[in-house]
Amino acid sequence: MDIEKLKKILEDRGEPKYRFSQIYKAVFFDLIFDFSQMTNLSKELREILSKEITPFSLKIKTIQKGKEVDKDLFELEDGNCIETVLMKHNYDRKTVCISSQVGCPLGCKFCATGKMGFIRNLDSQEIVDQVLFFAKEEKDKKLNVVFMGMGEPLLNYDNVLQAIRVLNDKNGFNLSIRSISISTAGIIPGIKKLMNENLQLNLAISLNSPNEKQRTEIMPVNQQYSLKELMAVAKEYVKKTNKKLFFEYVLLDGINDDLESSKQLIKLLDKEPLFHINLIRYNNTSTQFRSSSIKTIEKFKKELEKNNINVTLRYSFGKEIKAACGQLSTTSNCFNVD
Ligand code: SAH
Ligand code: SF4
Repeated sequence: MDIEKLKKILEDRGEPKYRFSQIYKAVFFDLIFDFSQMTNLSKELREILSKEITPFSLKIKTIQKGKEVDKDLFELEDGNCIETVLMKHNYDRKTVCISSQVGCPLGCKFCATGKMGFIRNLDSQEIVDQVLFFAKEEKDKKLNVVFMGMGEPLLNYDNVLQAIRVLNDKNGFNLSIRSISISTAGIIPGIKKLMNENLQLNLAISLNSPNEKQRTEIMPVNQQYSLKELMAVAKEYVKKTNKKLFFEYVLLDGINDDLESSKQLIKLLDKEPLFHINLIRYNNTSTQFRSSSIKTIEKFKKELEKNNINVTLRYSFGKEIKAACGQLSTTSNCFNVD
C-alpha cells in the first residue's frame, strides 16, 4: 500500500505513533487487505482509510490451475493486466514468478511478452501485491520470489528495488533477500547499479546466444548492450560480490543448440567458477522458434560438463496452461492470449 500516504493521514489526524505499526503489521504481516476487518481501529479511522488507501491493488480476473503451477491474471487499477505464476514443484519452498512491467520493451524474438510490446512499468505496490496475494492464498510467507514474469526488471529499477525493500522489511513481510532472484536480458547500467547495492539477492542474465550477431538477431537489446560489454560486467559482478551468477540459455532448435554454439559458449564463460548456466527448454509460443530435442539438449549439456562448466537443465513447469517461461502475455482488454 502507499506507506507514505498512510503515514501522512495518521499524522494529520494526530494518531498515536503506534497506530502506523499496527496497520503496517496488519497488512504486511497478517495479510489483512480490508481496513474494515481491522477491528482494533476506531470505526471512523477504518472508514477514512478505506476511502483513502488501497491496501491491495490487484483485481483477480482468473486463476488457472495446472499440475504444479497456478497462473493468475490480475487487473490493475487502470485496466491493464499482468500475469503471475506460483510454482509448487519444490516442496521445500514455493516460488512466485512475478511481473515487473505490463509487456516488455525489449522485444526478444522468442518471447510472448516481448511480442506484446511495452505498456508501462508496474509501481512498487503492484509488484509487492503479487507476492502478498500468493502468500495469503497459500498461508505461507516463506516463498522464493523470482522477477522472471512479464517485463524487464532492471528497466523499472527504482520500483523493483523499493518493492524488494518492502518485502524484506523485518517489521513487515520479512522475506529473506536470499530468496529473491532478478533476471535481466542484460541491462548493463542496471547490473552495475545493483552490484553496488550490496544486496544478497540472486542475479540471472538471459544470455541465450554465445555470439554477437545471433544474439542481436534474437535479442535486439544486444545492439545497445553488447555481449562483450555484458560479459565484462558479469566478471566485474562476481569479482565484486563473490556470488554465483546465473546465465539462462534457452535452447532453440537449429539456432543455438549445435556443437559450435556450445564451444563458443564455453569460450565466452572463460572458466569463471562463479558462473552457472541454466539450460532452459524452449516453451513453444506463437513464434517461428521450436524447442530442441531432448537428445540435442543432453548433448549440449554434456559438452559443457566435459569442459567443467557448472550447468543445470531447468525443467519448465506450467506449459499446459501457458504459464511457463516466455509464455506470459495479456491483451489490453485483459485476456490471456497466445
Ligand atoms: N526480462 C527478463 C525477465 C524475464 S525472465 C529476462 O528476459 O531475463 C524470462 C526468461 O524466460 C528469460 O530467461 C527468457 O530468456 C526466457 N524465455 C523467454 N521466452 C521463452 C520461451 N518461449 N521458452 C523458454 N524460455 C523463454
Ligand atoms: Fe522482455 Fe525478457 Fe521477454 Fe526479452 S525475454 S522480451 S527481456 S520479458
